[in-house]
Amino acid sequence: SKMTGRNRLSYFTRSLHDEAQNRLKLLNDMRSAVENRQFELHFQPIINLATGHICKAEALIRWNHPERGMISPAEFIPLAEESGLIVGIGDWVFRESAAQAKRWCDLFNKGLQISVNMSPVQFQSDALNITDWLTYLQTLGLDEKYLSIEITEGLLLNASDDVKDKLLLFKDAGIEVAIDDFGVGYSALSYLKRFDIDYLKIDQSFIQNLETEQNDLVLSEAIVVMAHKLGLKVIAEGVETEAQRRLLLEIGCDNGQGYFFSRPLPAAEFEDFLKKARG
Ligand code: C2E
Ligand code: CA
Ligand code: CA
Ligand code: CA
Repeated sequence: SKMTGRNRLSYFTRSLHDEAQNRLKLLNDMRSAVENRQFELHFQPIINLATGHICKAEALIRWNHPERGMISPAEFIPLAEESGLIVGIGDWVFRESAAQAKRWCDLFNKGLQISVNMSPVQFQSDALNITDWLTYLQTLGLDEKYLSIEITEGLLLNASDDVKDKLLLFKDAGIEVAIDDFGVGYSALSYLKRFDIDYLKIDQSFIQNLETEQNDLVLSEAIVVMAHKLGLKVIAEGVETEAQRRLLLEIGCDNGQGYFFSRPLPAAEFEDFLKKARG
């Protein structure tokens, strides 16, 4: 049946209204999600391409919503950023990652670095207290080398002194820094000179068609060569096939992460994966 103009308009405004209501509900639920223990971290291994060994893991947040089930960070992180809730959520992510790193240090004779995503909003917030985090690590008894952070290039373009100071606090403590989603969005590379970065993570959009798109292979290789000359290591994101793994190894890429090796796993499953890999 055809809708009349007026009906169509009211349908449209109603669905806009519903969407706003949904966002508002999600936002409200998010306010209490940390205390209600609804967040969970999953871990995805990062593999040394030359040896096949697991060299670290990225912590990825999941929201186990009581009515909606697992909600992807792609849906709720933007809302958390707009509302500022990301600061509290990010605080939980950092501490939970550190606690998990400590458990794995105690369980395995060789510890494992956990890489923590940090939103630019969280990083720029006055409420971000890195000194508190460092104290927490000392209380836990976790060596700082078992943590690294992932930031995006946008944060470093026109970075304020405050951002620079915060980065230095991490670096001075021995926490490594990776540039996430490298290669998309910006072309200004000068920040690589100004900040002490340890890893570039090549965005998965470059890796997806590595076998068929000659340009993607050329660009990936150029990133690897440049990074190595600057003393940085390179992680390829979104590795899904053996052919991609082989090509990345051929162009000298250090590490790979993606479904070919493993999906992000809940802590217990990741632990089994580690046990099997380490024998
Ligand atoms: P990201 O940091 O770029 O994380 C990589 C994303 O790629 C993850 O999605 C991961 O599950 C997915 N992925 C890994 N391997 C493959 C693969 O082989 N193929 C494909 N197609 N995808 C792969 P996820 O877990 O849904 O996270 C999405 C984004 O949400 C992350 O992108 C990150 O920007 C953000 N995020 C996740 N956890 C956190 C967090 O704790 N804090 C903050 N601030 N952001 C987070
Ligand atoms: Ca990341
Ligand atoms: Ca990424
Ligand atoms: Ca360095």
